[in-house]
Amino acid sequence: MKNPFETPERKAFRESVEAFVAREIAPHGEAWDEAGDFPWDIHEKAGALGLFGFAIPEEYGGNGFDDAFMRLDSGIALAYGAPGGVNASIGSRNIMTGPIVTLGSEEMKRAVLPGIVSGREGGALAMTEPSGGSDLSRIRTKARREGEDWVIDGEKTFITGGMKARWYVVGARTGGEGFGGISLFLVEWGAPGFSRTPIERKMGWWSSDTATLHFDGLRVPAQNQLGQEGLCLLAIMNNFNYERLALAAGCLGMARRCLDDAVEYAKIRETFGKALIRHQAIRHKIAEMSARIDALHAYLLHIAWTINDGGMPAAELAKAKFLASKTAEFCASEAMQILGGAGYLRGQAVERIYREVKVMAIGGGSEEIMKDLAVKQMGL
Ligand SMILES: Cc1cc2nc3c(=O)[nH]c(=O)nc-3n(C[C@H](O)[C@H](O)[C@H](O)COP(=O)(O)OP(=O)(O)OC[C@H]3O[C@@H](n4cnc5c(N)ncnc54)[C@H](O)[C@@H]3O)c2cc1C
Repeated sequence: MKNPFETPERKAFRESVEAFVAREIAPHGEAWDEAGDFPWDIHEKAGALGLFGFAIPEEYGGNGFDDAFMRLDSGIALAYGAPGGVNASIGSRNIMTGPIVTLGSEEMKRAVLPGIVSGREGGALAMTEPSGGSDLSRIRTKARREGEDWVIDGEKTFITGGMKARWYVVGARTGGEGFGGISLFLVEWGAPGFSRTPIERKMGWWSSDTATLHFDGLRVPAQNQLGQEGLCLLAIMNNFNYERLALAAGCLGMARRCLDDAVEYAKIRETFGKALIRHQAIRHKIAEMSARIDALHAYLLHIAWTINDGGMPAAELAKAKFLASKTAEFCASEAMQILGGAGYLRGQAVERIYREVKVMAIGGGSEEIMKDLAVKQMGL
């Protein structure tokens, strides 16, 4: 169907991202995933396309504008053609620039944003701890003030982009219990008291670098504290909303890829004297996948329109996030069923996506937490 929100600028942007993914990533993606790494110039090429510059002023290297439809389209295109690990690694900077733009000092923005937005340097958001990620009100990493410094002790885990980043936005407790006692700090790799270890052997996202970060008496200058002490987590709630939009877009791209690969296979594979796609049971699977994908896309377009209109529909983003991961999970399962044994083989996008759907259901606000949040937002 025609997208009523399409403009020549959005079309041109979407096509440039799709071409970048098809040319630079797709031919190597599965090999990079097997190798567990990919070349750094992909970050820089993605940066040159403007993928990290939304809502960031031009003076810091950003796009100088925001557009939720473009965010949506780039998320869909990347997830359609790139392994989730590449997508997650380059995208990890998008969840750490928001707090810097919103809460950082002028000096901090000038020091950090140009390198991150251009893709020359890596960035990560470090919230989750070994003791848990869903309930951020219970963050245990502590920061205490000593003269002109903050001294940080604790651990963060599952940090995407964490092994290669130069800059980290880290949540740490500076006050009493609950959300109100948490502050955010900009931490640079290389300082004494900061070490990082890789998390390997993940179920999916093989080509992304995921780290556990260890802070052992790490000193950061007082000016590296972001925003108002103790109130930072509340101040960056919109950051989580944009992360949910990106993850939902990613799920849509994954679901579409599963549908397209399944249709392509079903057209050429023959069973019982006719093409697989001529069997009613297979046609029903395709209809069901296609309907769920269309519905999700329509929902995300409406959400993008609302964001562009100045709103931030937190309840709808929460609902879209779990609807999206459920859609991706359904489509991955049905597509693999259509591909049969061929779908079970490494090197098939459907096989990889089948492994990657779970992190979409867990990361950035799990399905259970999103459902809870949505119902809370209904005032129930
Ligand atoms: C590959 C990967 C990359 C990640 N990247 C990052 C990153 O870059 N930065 C970062 O900070 N974090 C990152 N995360 C962490 C992610 O955000 C957390 O895994 C997620 O928030 C869930 O936290 P948890 O794993 O500690 O599960 P827990 O909080 O321990 O929860 C365990 C399970 O119980 C469920 N649950 C929890 N509370 C409730 C409840 N009240 N009712 C019902 N069910 C509940 C959860 O949904 C989950 O399924 C990443 C995770 C993965 C796997």
